[in-house]
Amino acid sequence: MAITLDIARDNPNAHTVSAEAVLPGEDKPTLIGLSREELGEALGTIGVPQKQWRMRASQLWHWLYVRGVSDFAQMTNIAKDLRQKLDEAFTIARPEIVSEQISVDGTRKWLFRFPARGAGRPVEVETVYIPEEGRGTLCVSSQVGCTLTCTFCHTGTQKMVRNLTAEEILSQILIARDRLGDFPHADTPQGAIVPSEGRLVTNIVMMGMGEPLYNFDNVKKALLIASDGDGLSLSKRRITLSTSGVVPEIFRTGEEIGCMLAISLHAVRDELRDVLVPINKKWNIKELLDACRQYPGLSNAKRITFEYVMLKGVNDSNQDALELVRLLKGIPAKINLIPFNPWPGTDYECSDWERIEEFADIVNRAGYASPIRTPRGRDIFAACGQLKSASERMRKKDREALAAS
Ligand code: SF4
Repeated sequence: MAITLDIARDNPNAHTVSAEAVLPGEDKPTLIGLSREELGEALGTIGVPQKQWRMRASQLWHWLYVRGVSDFAQMTNIAKDLRQKLDEAFTIARPEIVSEQISVDGTRKWLFRFPARGAGRPVEVETVYIPEEGRGTLCVSSQVGCTLTCTFCHTGTQKMVRNLTAEEILSQILIARDRLGDFPHADTPQGAIVPSEGRLVTNIVMMGMGEPLYNFDNVKKALLIASDGDGLSLSKRRITLSTSGVVPEIFRTGEEIGCMLAISLHAVRDELRDVLVPINKKWNIKELLDACRQYPGLSNAKRITFEYVMLKGVNDSNQDALELVRLLKGIPAKINLIPFNPWPGTDYECSDWERIEEFADIVNRAGYASPIRTPRGRDIFAACGQLKSASERMRKKDREALAAS
C-alpha cells in the first residue's frame, strides 16, 4: 500500500511522488550503522576468517558510505560467492520512500518507512532537505514522535513511538543523497534546486522529529559514522545537534561526539519556558546555560546556536530581547530567530515582521549574530516545528486485539 501525506492534497505547489510499498530485506539484519568491529563480527558469522575481517570491513565501509551502494551485487571488488553469502545473510537496502514532496523553494521533505525488523511495527519518519547557495542542509530525525510536548511544535503532538536505531538515522542521510544524486556517478534529478557546486548534502542538523539526547547512544553511533573520514566524511563542524535542554547529556555530546550544539531556548523566563519547552521544569534556564558554558571546545569559532521561535505577544518584546542578551553573556553564541511556522490546531501566531526586526536589532547591537531564519518549505509543512509522521503508538486495547487475532 502506498501512503501519501494528507497535507499534500491541500498544497497545489507541493509535488508528491509516491512509491510502492516494498520493504526489502525486512527479515534480515542490516549492515548499515555497524561499527567496523561489528562489521568484522558479522562477517565472521558467514564464515569469513578472522584475519580478513579488517580488510573486508574496510571494503564494505567504502561501498556503503563512499560509493553509496544499496545492493551487494554492485560491490565489484568482492568475490561473487562472498557477495552471495552476504546477500543471503544481510541487507543493505534503503527504507521505503512513502512520499517525496518538493516545495516551490526547492525544499524537499521525505516520509520514510522503516521495516519492523522482528520487533514492533514499521515506523515512518520525516527528513527535510534545505538547499541554499553554497550549502545543502539535511534535517534528520532521531525519534518517531517525541516524549516532550513543546507547545509550539507540531511533532510534540505526536506520541512517542520509539527511538530510531543508528541504521535508521544514517539511512536518512544515505537515501537523501541517493535521491539528490549526491554519490559518485549518480545523476541529480532534472530541475532540482541544489548548491551549484560541490557536495549536495554539506550539513546535517539533528533537528527533525524527536529529542536526540534522549536517544544518545544511537545518535552518537550514527554521527560518528557520518563524520568518519573514510566514509561519508561530514565535518563535525557541519553537524549540529539540537536539544531542548537535556542538561546531563550536554557535556557528553561535546566530549564523545564533538559536533556543534544548538539549544531550543525560546524563552528567557522560567515561567514561560516551563510552558513552551516543558523540560524546563526538570532543568531550568540557569542549569541549562551553566551546562552550555561547560561545553567542550567552546570558542568564538565554535559557538552555540540558540534557537528562538518568534511568537506574537508571547516572547517577542524588547524586554525579552534585552534579557536574552543578559543571559547569554560570556557564552560564545549566535541566535537564530525563527518566525513561527503555523500548523493546524495551534493557538500561536507568528510575530509581526517589524517586531522580529526590532528584536533582532537589540540582539545584534549587543554583538550577537542573529539571523532571522527564512521560513523554508512551508507549503509542504517541512518548516521548523512542523514535522509529524503518521506513526502513532497503538493504544493498549488495539495492541491486545491485534495479539489476540
Ligand atoms: S521541539 Fe523538539 S523536543 Fe520539543 S516537542 Fe518538538 S521535537 Fe520534541
